[in-house]
Amino acid sequence: MSDEVNKAKEAAGGAGAKSEPTIFDHILSGKIPADIVYEDEKCMAFRDVAPQAPKHILLIPRIRIPTLDDATWEHAPLLGHLMVTAKEIAAKEGLDKGYRIVINNGVEGSQSVYHLHIHIIGGRQMGWPPG
Ligand code: ADP
Repeated sequence: MSDEVNKAKEAAGGAGAKSEPTIFDHILSGKIPADIVYEDEKCMAFRDVAPQAPKHILLIPRIRIPTLDDATWEHAPLLGHLMVTAKEIAAKEGLDKGYRIVINNGVEGSQSVYHLHIHIIGGRQMGWPPG
């Protein structure tokens, strides 16, 4: 089993997976440093610490929505804001030939940090299907 899958299983099984602060809360508060590429009143984007491509950025809402499954219609404007912000970040990063947007959701989606986040991945040719 890959490291990513093990990490996802451990994260989901942990007590309070959806209620305890995550590493992203600590990045939002400034307690843990990150290479921040964008921020506004609703969201923040920073470079992934373990990049899977030449460009790998994580875009997160400031409020804690643990997984996409926890999103409600009330979050729809925020989710729309994130999508438009994601394409603006991609453009700023020079990803004019295309890029991949990913949301890992839950255990089988290989999610390991329970704070909804959008991966913006690019700078190389992507394959399909994902692993
Ligand atoms: P996965 O770990 O399977 O990619 P997620 O979709 O939950 O699952 O992604 C969490 C991402 O957060 C990972 O790509 C990981 O490298 C990244 N990450 C973890 N800690 C940090 C950190 N301190 N700074 C930046 N990125 C981080």
